[in-house]
Amino acid sequence: MKRYSIITEKNPREIVLLRGTGCKWKRCTFCDYHLDRSENEAENFALNAAVLAQVNGIYHHLEVINSGSFPELGEATIELIRKVCREKGITTLHFECHYLYRNAIAPLRERFAEAGVTLHIKIGVETFDATYREEILHKGISQTDPAKIAEGFDECCLLFGLSGQSVSSMISDIETGLVHFQRVCVNIMEENTTSVHPDTDVISAFIKDVYPLYQTNPRVDILLHNTDFGVGGPENE
Ligand code: SF4
Repeated sequence: MKRYSIITEKNPREIVLLRGTGCKWKRCTFCDYHLDRSENEAENFALNAAVLAQVNGIYHHLEVINSGSFPELGEATIELIRKVCREKGITTLHFECHYLYRNAIAPLRERFAEAGVTLHIKIGVETFDATYREEILHKGISQTDPAKIAEGFDECCLLFGLSGQSVSSMISDIETGLVHFQRVCVNIMEENTTSVHPDTDVISAFIKDVYPLYQTNPRVDILLHNTDFGVGGPENE
């Protein structure tokens, strides 16, 4: 699997897909990428070290994703990331984090700030429609107020292309995200091994009426395919 890439458009950065012990939540109905995991921390560290060795600091800006949350990466990998940041002059670093780990964010920020690195923590919200999010997607965010969800987080992911969504609901989700977060990342649902399927009518509506509104917005990333950041696909792509 391709685990290192460089994003050259909108917020240029290097990105690495690392492996941890696995998502602790695992209950999101649409997700099967939490399968990229191993209980063997030594093997995870060896893999992560090989991936991190490719980071060159070209933009002083790195995004770390791991099919889960940063605490699942393990202490050795976190420390190695800190070392790589120091050595490669990286001053801006992104991590992913589920809502259940929100209390772990402040200590991590402090730890990286000591190394001169500003953290940007991304939460998968998927939608601010709390009923849809919790009853259908089982996201595990008990809070319904977007402002409170955003406390401690800097960026959010949204998931579009699901039955029941509409042009107005998708625009409303993006606008809410832009009010409460520095950046918004839109993912479009793709077929996977779960029982949640992409709704082609909703995706067509997104591409026709929503995508053009945000395509050039520097605060909005839009992944029409989940490998658009250049990681997660086959090695030879
Ligand atoms: S929290 Fe993330 S990795 Fe875990 S099940 Fe949900 S979407 Fe998948």
